Amino acid sequence: MVEVLVPTMISYAPPELAAEMVPLLLGGREQWCQGFSEPGSGSDLASLTTRAVPRDGGWVVTGQKVWTSLAQYSQRCVLLTRTAPGHGGITAFFVDMDSPGITVRPLRTMHGVDEFAEVFFDEVAVPGDRMLGRPGDGWRLAMDLLPYERSTCFWHRIAHLYTRLDRLVAETEDPDDAALGEAYLGLHTARCRSHLTQRRLGEGGRLGPETSVDKVLLATAEQRLFDTARDLLPGVIELAESPWRAEFLYSRAATIYGGTAEIQRNIIARRLLDLGRD
Ligand SMILES: Cc1cc2nc3c(=O)[nH]c(=O)nc-3n(C[C@H](O)[C@H](O)[C@H](O)COP(=O)(O)OP(=O)(O)OC[C@H]3O[C@@H](n4cnc5c(N)ncnc54)[C@H](O)[C@@H]3O)c2cc1C
Repeated sequence: MVEVLVPTMISYAPPELAAEMVPLLLGGREQWCQGFSEPGSGSDLASLTTRAVPRDGGWVVTGQKVWTSLAQYSQRCVLLTRTAPGHGGITAFFVDMDSPGITVRPLRTMHGVDEFAEVFFDEVAVPGDRMLGRPGDGWRLAMDLLPYERSTCFWHRIAHLYTRLDRLVAETEDPDDAALGEAYLGLHTARCRSHLTQRRLGEGGRLGPETSVDKVLLATAEQRLFDTARDLLPGVIELAESPWRAEFLYSRAATIYGGTAEIQRNIIARRLLDLGRD
């Protein structure tokens, strides 16, 4: 959330709000969440229907979000709402999660963790100065935020996956060098790409659709690694309540969160390779 939401707050929040809030997240004193997806709007995010209507100098929000990571532990939410039709009718707010009218219901993942939640908004009053950007800026905010979700936050994920590769090598009694080599290559490729992205960002570069390449490489490497564990450690995924099993199951989410693998490939085809819509 730090890598994903802090750049958004700095770019879009009123400066006083960013100055007050960002240190709370950076310092670990608060957790925040990202309320984008809805039951009927995931890949087609622009179809979202959670609505915000103006009232008494502020806004009143009604609707539902889903798959909201860490919502049950969060003090604030970067929330996308609809204020008018179309892409230009999406407006973002920074909402206090203890506002009256918000109900959070944790959802258990198949790897047994309450990672995300359904979040219901029933006539939730949001002050006018909690808007991020201007009315209708929400789509632009989302397009600026998603490249971070698809790249910069992977640096430490890749470091974590390297520790799992080391563990796999240590636990394998009958090493298959070719399979381990492929798993290593996938991780190394993702790390090289991630390094390039971090460097570009550090030099003041702007992140955009090219981060879909980072996302595809990370998801492919993560799933290959745990597929290799399944093949080299017989039964450890299917038959045992092991850490390998939990991580194997979580790795399946890598081609879904932050935009699915199909959506990333569409972006690469259309926006990077200019292959047209078909
Ligand atoms: C672990 C995890 C954490 C998440 N955390 C958050 C969060 O914090 N906040 C948040 O807002 N959301 C979160 N999400 C939700 C995530 O962003 C959505 O699941 C994702 O965008 C896909 O949307 P969907 O689930 O509605 O699937 P759908 O959009 O219904 O897609 C279903 C299938 O159809 C395919 N598909 C859809 N459209 C196309 C197309 N145009 N071309 C080709 N194939 C297509 C998809 O690739 C997919 O295989 C999280 C998801 C996961 C798994």
